[in-house]
Amino acid sequence: MRSERRQKHWRTTAMVASSAGVITAGMAAVVPTSASADPAFQAPVPCGQRWTTSTHSGHADADMLDMISTDGVTRGKPVLASAGGRVTVSTFSNSGGNMIVIDHGGGWQTRYLHLDSRAVGVGVDVGTGRQIGAAGTTGASSGPHLHFEQKLNGAVVQARFNGSLVPRAWSYNQVFVTSNNCGGTPGKYWVDTHADAPGHSSPGGTRTGTLNKGTNYVYCRVWGPKVQVGSDYNHWWMKTDLDSGNPWQNQYVSAYYLSRWGNDVAKDNNGNDLPNC
Ligand SMILES: [Zn+2]
Repeated sequence: MRSERRQKHWRTTAMVASSAGVITAGMAAVVPTSASADPAFQAPVPCGQRWTTSTHSGHADADMLDMISTDGVTRGKPVLASAGGRVTVSTFSNSGGNMIVIDHGGGWQTRYLHLDSRAVGVGVDVGTGRQIGAAGTTGASSGPHLHFEQKLNGAVVQARFNGSLVPRAWSYNQVFVTSNNCGGTPGKYWVDTHADAPGHSSPGGTRTGTLNKGTNYVYCRVWGPKVQVGSDYNHWWMKTDLDSGNPWQNQYVSAYYLSRWGNDVAKDNNGNDLPNC
């Protein structure tokens, strides 16, 4: 009972910190929020690339997108996470070929089909722009392209990239998008924390709030005053948005609270060093 109440509390307060709509909560995937919590989707291809978008009569829903590159061959082009979230499907199927599904929380999901290769497995937390595979023509596909879907509560919706609805025609080379998936500004990195962490205005500075235990995003790290409990210590501090506090945005918590790493290490859940602030 106790832990369940605590979990509920976390979910409630976590929504405050999720204005970007991207939340994964520990073991259970998703915070159910209102349908309006659009996770700031970007085109699922590298920054600056121009792709033509279309649909066709074989699609179960006309809002499903087929995309091919206008900058050289499509096959092998990196396919990127359209927004941050957790990989829930990474598999091969006869119809979809190599396919990835990312759960973004709030009922939002994106799907990437016919990939030449897959770069992430189930359970991996990805930030916007993380490469998840390469475009290809596996499964029921007649040529290299990226089949892409944005879904809300199980239904395909007209995709939105960088805040704008994506145009789609009934054939290629009628309408185009240029990717603004430019590394996230600012980038978010997913980390697991083992306890509620006090938030500070600066490394070791004024106490401002709390980052609740669970899976959280952080922006970057900075070296600061050592936090030590027993034999565990860490000099790194991570900039993040707190679950509660005033102010709650762009505050700092000690990397001591990271679940996965040891003394004076500040990496994300994928094992990559956080960028310096
Ligand atoms: Zn398609």
